[in-house]
Amino acid sequence: MTEMSITLAPDIERVEDQDFPLPGSIGQPDYEPGERETLIARIKQLLEEKDAVLVAHYYTDADLQQVADETGGYVSDSLDMARFGNEHPASTLVVAGVRFMGETAKILNPEKRVLMPTLKAECSLDLGCPAAQFIPFCDAHPERTVVVYANTSAEVKARADWVVTSSIAVDLVSHLHDKGEKILWAPDRHLGRYIQAQTGADMLLWQGACIVHEAFKAQALQGLMARHPNAAVLVHPESPQSIIDLADRVGSTTQIIKAAQEMPNREFIVATDNGILYKMKQAAPDKIFIEAPTGGAGATCVSCAHCPWMAMNELRNLAHVLETGENEIHVEEHTRREALKATQRMLEFARSRKQPVLGRDNA
Ligand code: SF4
Repeated sequence: MTEMSITLAPDIERVEDQDFPLPGSIGQPDYEPGERETLIARIKQLLEEKDAVLVAHYYTDADLQQVADETGGYVSDSLDMARFGNEHPASTLVVAGVRFMGETAKILNPEKRVLMPTLKAECSLDLGCPAAQFIPFCDAHPERTVVVYANTSAEVKARADWVVTSSIAVDLVSHLHDKGEKILWAPDRHLGRYIQAQTGADMLLWQGACIVHEAFKAQALQGLMARHPNAAVLVHPESPQSIIDLADRVGSTTQIIKAAQEMPNREFIVATDNGILYKMKQAAPDKIFIEAPTGGAGATCVSCAHCPWMAMNELRNLAHVLETGENEIHVEEHTRREALKATQRMLEFARSRKQPVLGRDNA
């Protein structure tokens, strides 16, 4: 790899310059005594009555993940959630996550009704890569193959040659690099830089970032590592380079969960959204998980690694959307078909490599 082969996209408003909510700024819902249990019972009944299945992202509230588990639904990453919805016979998919996940479910399941507890749940990667800027940027670089991460809008996916998950991105970019192709990568610059370091490919990087992973701080992490010298450090590659440099294992959400099961360590420091701890504790109940710090030395917040948009999904709005059928996701048909092409290419590539298809492993 040479630093020369990474180019940052110019003149793009950096994601941190925008007015986003802070990680951890939306806390646990404040339920009245007995309300949580009543809502869970009502949701279970409504899922059955409405021929619906709940698919929830790893980063959503533990209550939602629990309801999905207990009702024959599913907890995973965005594309695997959509794949599950495709295989499940229910006519309605209720997607607990952020907006692009509802769109992804619709792209792969056009015949199904797709509902979301809230349409206000965004993603800084998606917001930081608007199609109106991204499409002309691609047009200005026709010599490059456009590879986008799943955390993008349907319009951005429709402009891409490939859509990838974090588990297959390194393999795919390496394959394209071997064929002599130059890459235009979007939207996450940290993940793009990580892929470039692994593959040596010539990559032009869009400058997006995830506000949750970008908040991890290397100095505070080193302090935590000194206090837990036997803990293994697990890091999602959307994190900055300084955090990746401290990792014992870098991986997608599913790879992080798997590492906790397989590694001999008893303690793990986890640098990704803390919503993942629900599944990690299920997968490795005898192990201890410690959240990586998001503040520098002296910061009071030690557990803010939680996506404020994921936190907008809760039991009340889930029950409401099932009652009313509000918040249905629609994707314009031409856009949907184009986005599907780029997604299917990745699925075929994964199959040709005999990799688990999607593999529950995107952020
Ligand atoms: S955790 Fe980051 S990448 Fe995931 S939805 Fe939130 S802002 Fe987007």
